[in-house]
Amino acid sequence: MKTVCELNGCAGCMACTDICPKNAITIKDSLRFYNAIIDEQKCINCNLCHKICQECHMPDLKYPILWREGWAANPEIRMKSSSGGFATAITLAFVNSGGIVYSCSFINGQFIFTSANSEDGVKKFIGSKYVKSNPKGVYKNILMNLEKNKKVLLLGLPCQIAAAKNYVGDHEEFYTIDLICHGTPSPRILEKFLNEYRYSLTSIKDITFRVKDCFGLSNEKISFTVPTVQDYYTMTFLNSISYTENCYECKYARLERVSDLTLGDSWGSKLPKSEKNKGISLALCQTEKGLRLLKQTNLYMEEVNLENAVKYNYQLQRPSAKPIQREKFFTMMEAGKKFSRIVWRCYPNRYIKNSIKTILYKLKPFRDVGGGG
Ligand SMILES: Cc1cc2nc3c(=O)[nH]c(=O)nc-3n(C[C@H](O)[C@H](O)[C@H](O)COP(=O)(O)OP(=O)(O)OC[C@H]3O[C@@H](n4cnc5c(N)ncnc54)[C@H](O)[C@@H]3O)c2cc1C
Ligand code: SF4
Ligand code: SF4
Ligand code: SF4
Repeated sequence: MKTVCELNGCAGCMACTDICPKNAITIKDSLRFYNAIIDEQKCINCNLCHKICQECHMPDLKYPILWREGWAANPEIRMKSSSGGFATAITLAFVNSGGIVYSCSFINGQFIFTSANSEDGVKKFIGSKYVKSNPKGVYKNILMNLEKNKKVLLLGLPCQIAAAKNYVGDHEEFYTIDLICHGTPSPRILEKFLNEYRYSLTSIKDITFRVKDCFGLSNEKISFTVPTVQDYYTMTFLNSISYTENCYECKYARLERVSDLTLGDSWGSKLPKSEKNKGISLALCQTEKGLRLLKQTNLYMEEVNLENAVKYNYQLQRPSAKPIQREKFFTMMEAGKKFSRIVWRCYPNRYIKNSIKTILYKLKPFRDVGGGG
């Protein structure tokens, strides 16, 4: 099998599929890793896919020149966003200045990239999606708009921004924002989780992965667990057990960044709890373009201690470590075992604790009724 980058090391950024002139590349999602497989019958050995691949050629990284914490000045944007709302406020200001924004939305069961040139369009992007998104087609589209002298902003995961940098090259009107990234699982893991509740990605309209610092999965109909217990998709995501193989070697999990502006959560913030509950964003700015994005947006910003921010956000130091339970997780997943059974086998203590907490939570109304009578 001939692959574009190292076997099992593909990030799924899709840039090679955008550049291949012969449509000879298929991305194979094997749950625990992705591979970009070349059809040797179609391939003409032009080498474009290797040149574009950010796993093979990492673009230049830059240290931040400015760091701030804060939130969107518009309280509605802050409230609706996962963190402090910097992403939405900045992208709204960008479309209002005549630009086009590309980012990730959940559409027809897929986490895909679309473009927006209006406020309503940008609002479709709101919210962190803790899953590997699919930027197929986006690089080609961005280049096409830049060639038409449009101003473009791409907001995505660091590996996706790196791929876009390789694809587009240096361009005065191309702005980039990356998110601090913990790692991403294949969306098929999420599908398996949903199936256990008789849902599928295509049967739901909306999905929420987090409300401020409360991490948990819900769709437009239900929340997947009781409020005192974390659902098993979120638990496995936060324990870094479910990511594709390449994420444990991620080259972008460091303070030097690939984008003009990096956004994340200001986990180590010294601001009062009342502000933390509403969400506080962290911004690391690497370039003049990044400064411009901040300047044209209505944000509340304060200086933040960079050392402290890095200390509390370890993806700014190194990639997530691979837990020893990961092998068991994927072996059972591939064997078609139920998500809850896999969690029971990988984290037995946690599973028992959660089961007890769930029973106690469900019994509470009866206790309350009893006490009142
Ligand atoms: C997989 C993942 C892992 C993360 N890990 C960390 C971490 O370890 N530490 C940390 O500080 N922050 C992390 N973040 C960032 C954090 O969750 C918030 O997205 C960020 O703080 C911006 O919040 P916000 O309130 O400004 O905007 P939000 O309302 O969260 O908007 C987020 C923007 O990011 C885009 N986006 C969301 N999910 C994806 C995705 N899967 N792929 C591409 N683009 C996406 C949306 O389209 C939108 O434009 C992670 C985000 C993701 C998606
Ligand atoms: S070498 Fe060229 S033709 Fe072959 S897969 Fe790569 S991009 Fe496509
Ligand atoms: S360009 Fe992206 S999708 Fe293609 S092989 Fe490299 S990492 Fe994988
Ligand atoms: S951890 Fe790195 S490789 Fe994995 S999704 Fe995040 S940026 Fe991409």
